[in-house]
Amino acid sequence: MKDDLPLSGRVALVTGAAGGIGAAITDRLSAAGAKVVAADLSGDRPVPTTTRFQSLDVTDEVSWQAAIDSCALIEGRLDILVNCAGILRAASIPDTSRAMFDQVVAVNQTGVFLGMKAAYPLMARQGGSIVNLSSTAGIRAAANHVAYVASKFAVRGMTKVAAIEFGPQGIRVNSVHPGLIDTPMVTPFFPQGTGVFAPRQLLDQIGQPMDVAELVLFLSSDASRFCTGSEFICDGGYVTGGR
Ligand code: NAD
Repeated sequence: MKDDLPLSGRVALVTGAAGGIGAAITDRLSAAGAKVVAADLSGDRPVPTTTRFQSLDVTDEVSWQAAIDSCALIEGRLDILVNCAGILRAASIPDTSRAMFDQVVAVNQTGVFLGMKAAYPLMARQGGSIVNLSSTAGIRAAANHVAYVASKFAVRGMTKVAAIEFGPQGIRVNSVHPGLIDTPMVTPFFPQGTGVFAPRQLLDQIGQPMDVAELVLFLSSDASRFCTGSEFICDGGYVTGGR
């Protein structure tokens, strides 16, 4: 029965919902019973019937307020916020322009800050869960990714600040740190296929969007009710060490 599903009656907003990981999260939370507001720059992707598309530019505070106002008006509540929108630009420090650095930080870092800030008043009415997509690049640095690493370390830190500030309102806040996941964000960097990355992990398979979505479901549901302010790594053992 639908009422028995872990997220029955809950409303979730997922950013970057048209992307590889965001789409999987949208589908997984929807299958778990949530009404999902799928937010992204573009609305080309067909969405499940339990899902509503919301146009959102995460770098824009006005756009965020409009998205949250829509949730208040249409769904009447917000229980889960998944900050998944992100961009990746690879370049060494000397080759990273100020504009490139600012663009990555605007989406990956400022976007998460604006999302948590905008969502807080609506979520605080009944409590909930915020899941911020960081990366293994928010735990261990990598050459040629100065802006991305800066933004993902920042997401990890902001997650802990929010967990401290929002805890009394019953809002849990955690960060998720995927390793290499097969999505349009990374495939251009692997012309011979993402499989060449496997020897840098402990497990042979390359991560798929659904691997991250299952972790986000756990953090969104009451199964993780005692978890807040923490990092959750999903990387095939990449951070632990290569073979
Ligand atoms: P993706 O490129 O497939 O999807 C990213 C989505 O974000 C796109 O749909 C895009 O339209 C959206 N987006 C970009 N800028 C936006 C903006 N200003 N406002 C709203 N939406 C915007 O990427 P993905 O692999 O699904 O990545 C999702 C998240 O996971 C990102 O935060 C990324 O940094 C993180 N991540 C990905 C990997 C990986 O290997 N794929 C690893 C670690 C972390």
